[in-house]
Amino acid sequence: MNHELMSYLETIEPELKVLTRLFGLPESIWDEPKKFIPDAREEQGLFRIIFESDSFRAERAAPAPDDSNPRVRILHRRRAARRLCKQALYDLLRDMTGIRPPWGSLTGVRPTHLMLEALKEGLTPEAAVDRLVTDFDVAPDRAALLAEIAAVQEKLPAPGGEWMDVYIGIPFCTTRCAYCSFSSGEIGDGSLVSPYMDALVREMRACREILRDSGRKLRALYIGGGTPTALPQDAFERLMAETAGCFPGAMEYTVEAGRPDTLTREKLRAIRNAGFSRISINPQTMNDRTLKIIGRAHTAQQVRDAYTLAREEAVPHINMDVIAGLPGENEQDFAHTMDEARKLKPESLTVHTLAIKRSSRMSLENHPLPDGEMTARMVEAGRETARSLGMVPYYLYKQKYMAGNLENTGYALPGHACLYNVDIMEETSHILAMGAGGISKRIFPEEGHIERAPNVSNIHDYLTRTDEMIRRKTELFLK
Ligand code: SF4
Repeated sequence: MNHELMSYLETIEPELKVLTRLFGLPESIWDEPKKFIPDAREEQGLFRIIFESDSFRAERAAPAPDDSNPRVRILHRRRAARRLCKQALYDLLRDMTGIRPPWGSLTGVRPTHLMLEALKEGLTPEAAVDRLVTDFDVAPDRAALLAEIAAVQEKLPAPGGEWMDVYIGIPFCTTRCAYCSFSSGEIGDGSLVSPYMDALVREMRACREILRDSGRKLRALYIGGGTPTALPQDAFERLMAETAGCFPGAMEYTVEAGRPDTLTREKLRAIRNAGFSRISINPQTMNDRTLKIIGRAHTAQQVRDAYTLAREEAVPHINMDVIAGLPGENEQDFAHTMDEARKLKPESLTVHTLAIKRSSRMSLENHPLPDGEMTARMVEAGRETARSLGMVPYYLYKQKYMAGNLENTGYALPGHACLYNVDIMEETSHILAMGAGGISKRIFPEEGHIERAPNVSNIHDYLTRTDEMIRRKTELFLK
């Protein structure tokens, strides 16, 4: 047993537990912890990890990384050891159960990272696909999807340390969706809106200075939440005007208008006047029965009306989010949503797979995940719809507790990929985040390392601790 290697694996148990869940194994399997203690060795320049259980044995070996910079050396060796450990346990579990999950041994939320890493090493796309299939047991169609996404991302304006993205969070929604795990609150009587906007504007003005003093250039700006358009008209206009005043000159401006019932002609005008060209109107489903079940207080007709209104106000880019595997939905229901999507012709379409996160109402009510195979067919129907609309996949991520261990994929017409979505998923640009729950990130690309300055998520805490949130970002970017 190698002590250095074992120290890298000390905290890996949660990730290994995620792997055992992929194979449908009960948590109780961890009551026999010996089963999951690997033998870890370094010999002749190789890391070697071995798992043995009953009559099964899995062994993986890979070159032990080295680097003249001691900090980088440790980071790379740690990452390699952990990756190898997961691969070896995956092999063992696959042999024990005969199950082959679509993403193989990848449990992280960003599988595109591995594809980009392989291409950066100089592999051809075909060789990179082979590596994902061979080393990580990723299904060939998923590996090919990653190669396609990498090719689209390669054509986007290059990210890098000289750029900064800006995120502004509005943590209010009209009602709470059954699957929601965000810290957003229902807007209720609106009494928190005015104090929230005061605090946010103070933070935005301070961040304008941080951005200027950091010497970085503004790349993409994204207002999310929550539902920003849930704000009353005056507060929304203030948000738009402050954003345009504090953060001019971005390559891309997006504001989420997720709930169609919150969008008015006046808000659309404020959006356009502030220079925003991309909005997101998200039905999630075009079936009224499901909309009711999941707690969204709008109808499919309101989605159609919102698209008409946005087109009348000449919004050039509308994104649509849908979810495969919503409660009570079958393939016909999802096919209906896809038919409607084809009629509404958004410029981009994000096909999510239902994930039931721990703090959501569905989780608290012990709602089971839908059948994985049925959801996979819905996801495939989403892919076909996007392609039939002339779109290409441009970003992809996974979440925990996701139906069928599938994925979320963003598709867009050529020239309509959302830079911010790519940046946040690939972690290739600094993020300066404002508002409750916003997480600022400073990237250190050479070291493959990220430092974060999270804002508190609770709205009341945010109101009383705004100065501290500003200080955290000043320390992150200017010290
Ligand atoms: S619209 Fe989004 S943030 Fe608001 S409740 Fe639904 S999932 Fe949560």
